[in-house]
Order: sequence, then structure tokens, then C-alpha cells
Amino acid sequence: MKKIKAIILMVCVLIIGVCGYSYLQLNIDLVPKITSSLNQNEMFKESVDWNIPYFFNLLNKNVKEKIIDDNAPITINENNLEISVNQDDAHSYISVKHDDTIIYEGSIDDFNDNFLFINNGEYTINNHVTFTTDELGNGDIYFKQKVNVDINEVKYNLTLDNLLQGQLSCIKISNVPNDIIPVGKSDLGQINFVKTDVENQYMGIIPSSYTTDVGDYVVQTQLGSNSKEFIINVSENEFVVQNLKVSQTIAKDTTYSDEANAEFAMATLPLTKSYSDEIYWESTFVQPVFGKISTPYGVIRYVNDDPVSRRHGGVDFAVPLGTPVQAPNNGVVEFAQFLKLTGNTIVIDHGAGLKSYFYHLDSISVEVNDTVKKTDIIGKVGTTGFSTGAHLHYELRIGDKCIDPFPLFDNTSTIY
Ligand SMILES: [Zn+2]
Repeated sequence: MKKIKAIILMVCVLIIGVCGYSYLQLNIDLVPKITSSLNQNEMFKESVDWNIPYFFNLLNKNVKEKIIDDNAPITINENNLEISVNQDDAHSYISVKHDDTIIYEGSIDDFNDNFLFINNGEYTINNHVTFTTDELGNGDIYFKQKVNVDINEVKYNLTLDNLLQGQLSCIKISNVPNDIIPVGKSDLGQINFVKTDVENQYMGIIPSSYTTDVGDYVVQTQLGSNSKEFIINVSENEFVVQNLKVSQTIAKDTTYSDEANAEFAMATLPLTKSYSDEIYWESTFVQPVFGKISTPYGVIRYVNDDPVSRRHGGVDFAVPLGTPVQAPNNGVVEFAQFLKLTGNTIVIDHGAGLKSYFYHLDSISVEVNDTVKKTDIIGKVGTTGFSTGAHLHYELRIGDKCIDPFPLFDNTSTIY
């Protein structure tokens, strides 16, 4: 009996001895050699927290290492960086700090695809690598690298932050890195960023309309990993109230005709959604015709004592039948045909979603896809469709928003 006890004791001592010995042999040198590079530079390894398996992988020893040495910053002259890790199946989580604030967090793939520096300064980039192996255990390795960014800083310019209903504002973004297109959104309407003739500059038009509710609107832009928000205030514009008498026959056949309205909606809906990512217009717009304005922009109109008002999205110019109509600016003819509601109708795309609509023409002298230059004659004033006499109904739209065209005629607009 004593012998058995002694044997058991010896075995125990042996096991403990083996464990103890192998435990003591486990040190930081057994941690897999993981490195992380930033562009071509090896990142500084800041600390290691690793679990080394031993005793038939049944136990783990945790080893830690903290490297105090601080690394010298490297200078970066590009907007984006590429981080890599020498172990393909390691998991990397990147964060970027500037002035003690984390300005970016995300996976290594997201970082390499989207992260952009837009401002100069000193930044710290951290790469937290998590790695699990079958034989060498698992743990976390923390890399960091200080960088001094020296680039052409990205500049944002919101041209107007206070609008009257119907006015528009623009966001111009300069020094946009190559191959990056800004995106934007706002409750004021779709924002389409297009290149301007200034190198690496983009512009997005932000429209308000006569129907836009007064108040503050958030405009959000995204440039790679960088979001930027702006607030635009829209205040009340005073619109004229007009009572209009129209012959019952015309009214019945056109405004009050479901068929005419449906035809108009079907024809114009695609025009409100498409936009050219080029700017065709050049400097100030010119009026398509010159004459008395019979119905200004945004008028609240009651037709034949109908208690429900309609709004007038364009400007009516009362000019004689046959008056030549000129293109207000360069563009491409996107629509040219007769519609029951608006008669002979032309739509010119000036680029970036900005389009001119001409209604009630007597004749049309352009075709779809024609390129027109500012002041080219596109047709003649008429009284076709829902019309009480010869006049030109001119409408300027961004997407589906009718805007006040006069700031573009009198050079007070900020789109140039
Ligand atoms: Zn009109």
C-alpha cells in the first residue's frame, strides 16, 4: 500500500515537475513573429498580450510585453495609406487619433479602401491585431505609428447658409484626392457632386423650392472616411397670390384632365431623376425671352375660383406669339415634344441636374440630344397646351425642385 502511495506521489511530483519546467520555458520568444506595415514602413510594436499553450495544450501561460520606446513620426504626403500584416488570417482593427480624438475606426480592408487624410497635422495610427494559431496560442498585438501629414488640405465651401424659399446653395470641395467623388445628401434634395473646371474641385448644388418648409436643414457630405455636416436655414419668401380665369373647355381638357396630367408626369418624371455629371453651363444665364412677367415664380394660383390653390413653379413671360426663345445657357436637349398639359415642350440639361423647362411653344427648332449654346434659338413662343394666351412658361429645376431662375439671370447665384 505504502509502495503504491509512493509511486503515485512520484508520478505527481514528476507531472508537476514537467509542468513547472515547461511553464518556465514559456516566454515572449514563443509568440509568433507578427509585423504590420504602413505603406513601406514597419509599424512600431507597442505591446503584446499572448496566451501560450503547454501541457498537451491543456493549459495556457499568459505573457505580456510592453515596449516603452516611442517611435518617431513619419511624414505622409498622400491622402490615403495602406496597412498590411504579415499573417493573412490575423484580424486587424485600425484606429486613427488626432489631438486625442479618435477620428477613424474600422477594419483593415475598410481603412485601405476608404480612409483619407484631408487635413495636415500629427496623427497616431493604431493597429490592434488579434491572431489565433493551432500550436502557438492566441493573443493580441498592438502596433502604432505616428505620422505627420503634409498634403494639399481639402477645403469645403458652403456658398450660402441662409436661403429664401426657391434659392439655391452650393458646396464646393477643393483638393479632392484623385479617384474620389464626394457624396452628399440632404432633406432639401438630392445632391449630385460634379467636377468643376478647377482642378480637383467638385461642386454639389443644394436646392430649395417654393414648397420647401421654412427651417433648418442638415446637409451631409462624405469624402472617403470623412463626413462633414452643414446647416442651411430656409426662410419664408413672399409669393404673390393670383386668381386666374381659364375657359372651361381648356381647363377641362388640360389642368383638370387626368390624362393630360398623367402624360406630363410620365414624360417628365425621368427628367427629374437623370443628371449629367458634367457642367455644361458657362457663367451667367440669360433670359430665354425679354418681356413683361405675367406670372412670377412661386405664385399661389387659384384657377376659376377652385378653393384648392396650385403653385406656379416657373416664370411666365408675356411676349408676342412667335417671339424667338433662346437657350439660357449651354446644354443638351433632353426633351422636345408636344404634351397636352404644357403644349410644345423643351427641356435642356445644363449639367449637374440643373435643367431648363420651356412650355407652350408655338414651334420647336431643336431635337433631343442636340447640343445648344447660350442664346441659340430653340423655338418660338406660343400658346399650346394649358394656356390663356401667347406666353413663355420658363422653369428652372434641380431634380424635381423648381427654383427661382432670377438669381442665375442677375448673377447673384453662387453656382458659377
Ligand atoms: Zn406658367
